[in-house]
Amino acid sequence: MKEKETMTKFTDLGLDKPILKAIQAEGYDTPTPIQAKAIPHLIAGKDVLGIAQTGTGKTAAFALPILQKLAQINGKPMKFRPRALVLAPTRELAAQIEASVRTYGRDLPIRQTAVFGGASLRNQVRQLERGIDVLIATPGRLVDLMNQGFVKLDQVEVFVLDEADRMLDMGFIHDVKKIAAQLPTVRQTALFSATMPKTVSRLVDDMMHEPVQVEVAPRATTVERIEQKVHFVTKSDKRALLSVILEDEAIERVLVFTRTKHGADRVTRHLEQRGIIATALHGNKTQSAREKALASFRSGRARVLVATDIAARGIDVDGVTHVINFDLPNEPESYVHRIGRTARAGAEGIAISFCDGEERAYLRDIEKTIRQSIDVDEEHPYHAQAAANDTGETRPNRGRQHRGGKGGGNGGGGNGGGNHRNGDRPTSQPGENKKRHFRPQNGKPSGKPSGKPSGRFGGKQGGKQGGKRAA
Ligand code: AMP
Repeated sequence: MKEKETMTKFTDLGLDKPILKAIQAEGYDTPTPIQAKAIPHLIAGKDVLGIAQTGTGKTAAFALPILQKLAQINGKPMKFRPRALVLAPTRELAAQIEASVRTYGRDLPIRQTAVFGGASLRNQVRQLERGIDVLIATPGRLVDLMNQGFVKLDQVEVFVLDEADRMLDMGFIHDVKKIAAQLPTVRQTALFSATMPKTVSRLVDDMMHEPVQVEVAPRATTVERIEQKVHFVTKSDKRALLSVILEDEAIERVLVFTRTKHGADRVTRHLEQRGIIATALHGNKTQSAREKALASFRSGRARVLVATDIAARGIDVDGVTHVINFDLPNEPESYVHRIGRTARAGAEGIAISFCDGEERAYLRDIEKTIRQSIDVDEEHPYHAQAAANDTGETRPNRGRQHRGGKGGGNGGGGNGGGNHRNGDRPTSQPGENKKRHFRPQNGKPSGKPSGKPSGRFGGKQGGKQGGKRAA
């Protein structure tokens, strides 16, 4: 990570020995910028507003000071009464935070648990009954447990709201307010958010006391480490293009994003029919199916994880070499979140976006947000000049009408489009503007799209393509 050049060391941050030992064992040698900036304030007991997105190391930024504070006070874990509460928007993120707290606090007498929907309430209640120091929760399940008397928040000393912007996007504002109302007024609060829309600032005003604001990496610099490309393609060719790209074995661990749940299932089936081990992660899956999908992707058994935005929130899988946007998101922030799944913790990564004519407006919004234009790669067999030429300027109803990745009506997640729902390729050639050329690495056209694109899409060192923009 570029920002790591700040010379702060973990030993400068005021952390106690058992915590330093645990982070050393994790292989962290320097604090990330958000850690360097937030940890000293949190240890000093201040409220902190952190503007940072996932992948910046923000979990440790709040988890380490919480562990330190709780261990120093050394109270006993109390039945149903956590001393620290972390709210996260999704189950996956809650589970990951729990795992991180467990890792960082492994040498401390601290007990933590995560509660979220879709998992056994009974087990969660049993954990709470045993006594708990740090509770990590999604808002809905926490409110359920509070209503049933299984969680009492009157002993909370530290409250963390993680990914506040997403939380509000997902409609949790009322639950968050209900929860906040039960917290002691004297407490420490930390709020993390990748963006600061008005709704989040209002929450900050309501819930925080003279917060110190720490901010890292304006979005544009965070995405700089990721090599980004766009492939113009018709909707009906997207699946075929994906298959061709995945012929490249350098693409080891791939996260594919679709707009809809059905789209995710369709793409997964398509890949499996072609012998590529893929698994889907989306909101229609049960908790255990989601966990299975993630475990299979983490272990490398499945090379491809096909996910929707919401399901993918907070996924933290090391070594994702590529993110492929099968559908472009209609919210530029989602693009940033998606591609941030690769290039975790200082690694480099590649993000490939498919863009059909209807998605040109989304692409424009994304480029405006990240303040850079994305290189166009025309060197693939399904390049659609028509999509490239479409500026997206005149499209009606573009933009944010489909909030939060809940599935827009028009995207269809790559259903093959038009009349070509069942296969990769239409039987007749659609799109008079379509070029069917294919060039392997040496740049010479082979004439057919059947050649192996070996290394073309994969090599991180592979250099940027084309860069020509028709519009
Ligand atoms: P987060 O933004 O909290 O989801 O963290 C992103 C990833 O960075 C996780 O895989 C962490 O394990 C990793 N990480 C956090 N802090 C550091 C650090 N100081 N050095 C190296 N990796 C880290």
